[in-house]
Amino acid sequence: MKIGVPKEIKTREYRVGLTPSSVKELIGFGHTVFVEKDAGLAIDFTDDQYLDAGATILPTAAEVFATADMIVKVKEPQPAECKMLRPGQILYTYLHLAPDPQQTELLLASGASCIAYETVTDERGGLPLLAPMSEVAGRMSIQAGAHHLEKAQGGRGMLLGGVPGVAPAKVLIIGGGVVGDNAAAMAVGMGADVTIMDRSLPRLRELDNKYRGQVRCLYSTNTAIEEHALTADLVIGAVLIPGAAAPKLLTRETISKMQRGAVVVDVAIDQGGCFETSKATTHDDPTFIIDDVVHYCVANMPGAVARTSTIALNNATLSYAIQLANKGLGALADNPHLAKGLNIHQGEVTYKAVADALGYPY
Ligand code: NAD
Repeated sequence: MKIGVPKEIKTREYRVGLTPSSVKELIGFGHTVFVEKDAGLAIDFTDDQYLDAGATILPTAAEVFATADMIVKVKEPQPAECKMLRPGQILYTYLHLAPDPQQTELLLASGASCIAYETVTDERGGLPLLAPMSEVAGRMSIQAGAHHLEKAQGGRGMLLGGVPGVAPAKVLIIGGGVVGDNAAAMAVGMGADVTIMDRSLPRLRELDNKYRGQVRCLYSTNTAIEEHALTADLVIGAVLIPGAAAPKLLTRETISKMQRGAVVVDVAIDQGGCFETSKATTHDDPTFIIDDVVHYCVANMPGAVARTSTIALNNATLSYAIQLANKGLGALADNPHLAKGLNIHQGEVTYKAVADALGYPY
């Protein structure tokens, strides 16, 4: 199969669909890979590295789209990219169609088969192509929190791990899924005093088993959240109720009673945020202060570490890319989890939640 990798064109998106090492794997299966000039340059994947891997470099996105049978990307296609897709072509990328009627319409009109990373499933009911970005965001949340606890960033002027003779900072993590677990691992590693809360007892048991006394694992109630938030130096919001907006777990009133210079990092901001005072921010201007509490609410945290994120994403997407390249859409019949990724096929919406959200037949 001919596989195409265009350069991402969404503002400040530096990730790339395939790394040189993924390109080499696909070529090993007898496929041909076309990469747009400088597609990975921003994260130091040079054209020479792609050439060494066996790719052909094409000067423009138009040539990549015109040549390839399957396009591999990271972000949802922008309108100019949608218009370059054609019937029979496969698009493999994040789509997030439910809140995006314009993109959905353009993809329907293209006639292409569009597979969304975010709806591919695994045997345990997880979302294997979303998990790597949650791992990145979870780990980054502690890095961002530690930075903003510094005085110059508006924080309390506290070192997360303390020093001998000085107590460490108190970190409260609300939600113990992929983000919360990765945040806890970093916070423990930095020597903080860590509490994690979840509504799922089986999940709390797993975490308790994993951290063996290094993390307090507590059942999440409004009372428990308020009690711990009032003495916390850093609070991480990491809850998810699949398919629903995030519940507001820290009220404005609780935030107004928190310690001066405490930091709250709302990772769940991409689902509307789990703190009442949250509003989405960007890497250019990541924080704002309400009631003396520093809020960090960046909606695409992994974008800041685009090289790590690209490699992590490729580790998860490559095996499915190989299946699609080897078998075309036949791969969907052989792998029901990959089939869950098909959101649009030949002008029809083929994913129920998207059809329901946007009023298309299913
Ligand atoms: P996940 O499903 O692995 O974990 C969510 C956890 O929240 C579950 O364990 C669930 O039991 C728990 N939970 C639900 N309601 C709760 C409550 N009331 N109190 C405490 N815990 C509760 O999800 P995840 O992959 O960890 O993602 C968490 C959030 O982070 C999602 O909203 C996701 O979209 C978001 N996210 C944001 C970014 C970003 O850049 N901002 C990046 C990746 C993920």
